Amino acid sequence: MALDIKKIGIIGCGQMGKGIAHVCAVAGFDVIMTDANADILKKVHADIEKGMSSRVNRDEITDADMKAALAKISTAKDYKGFKDCQLVIEAAVEDEQIKKQILKDLCPHLGPDTIIATNTSSISITRLGAQTDRPGKFVGMHFMNPVPRMDLVEMIRGIATDEDTYKTVSDLALKLGKSPVNAEDFPAFIVNRILLPMINEAIYTLYEGVGSVQAIDTAMKLGTRHPMGPLELADFIGLDTCLAVMHVLHDGLADTKYRPCPLLVKYVEAGWLGRKSGKGFYDYAGDEPVPTR
Ligand code: NAD
Repeated sequence: MALDIKKIGIIGCGQMGKGIAHVCAVAGFDVIMTDANADILKKVHADIEKGMSSRVNRDEITDADMKAALAKISTAKDYKGFKDCQLVIEAAVEDEQIKKQILKDLCPHLGPDTIIATNTSSISITRLGAQTDRPGKFVGMHFMNPVPRMDLVEMIRGIATDEDTYKTVSDLALKLGKSPVNAEDFPAFIVNRILLPMINEAIYTLYEGVGSVQAIDTAMKLGTRHPMGPLELADFIGLDTCLAVMHVLHDGLADTKYRPCPLLVKYVEAGWLGRKSGKGFYDYAGDEPVPTR
């Protein structure tokens, strides 16, 4: 029987966790959030308010909607407050070991009927579900960035996911105003299986000196009508996430065409993770982004 979702737990208060909390609260759900980093947790409410304010300014939601939604979001240092959630969405860093540990730590705090969804961009839903005490109630729910503006949610069944779970979470995506699309449980699913190799190739194009950052992004915007150039998009996604997805594709499909570009590896090693760290293929310190190569 389909579960009546009222309260949603969110693990990870990065750009995705905040976006997911934003759309869930605006849709009227209670939300509780946690993050391993206390500083990030402290400012999550203010960050979400900033995101909602810009939607108020665009007349997408009213000031009253924003206030009501913000009042629905609480934070917690641990999973104790997650016990009355009907659904928990894991949106922590794209690292399989970290996600597995989170799932192991989380399960003892949940009621037996609670569904767990993961927002992973690439990691096997079957493998992550096997870490839980409820693989039947575990599903992939892959939102796009920025969550309030992007319509798609990829829905992914692990081998053990039961149909009620899949349907409950797909229906929730509809209630959030999103369009769920089914993807099978193969590395990086649909969108990132296609998008990330293109971004990786753009980085190879830069690495081999075929074009500058500006030339590559301008060429792809004007030549293919993409709204963002691939390097700009990589910075927006986060270069650590891009690299993690390429590793999952490379390891999972064992094809050299997915080899991560050494320049991407170097940027991540330098801590140049894109917009979120202030520097990637562009430097975001000034008013306008400046190419770093
Ligand atoms: P991010 O780097 O902005 O945020 C990750 C957050 O996870 C950080 O706040 C970090 O402190 C937290 N974290 C790390 N370890 C934790 C732990 N043990 N417990 C709780 N929190 C922990 O990353 P993001 O872009 O928000 O990505 C989060 C997830 O969403 C990843 O799985 C990513 O692949 C996926 N995703 C990202 C995008 C994108 O465009 N960035 C799009 C769709 C899905």
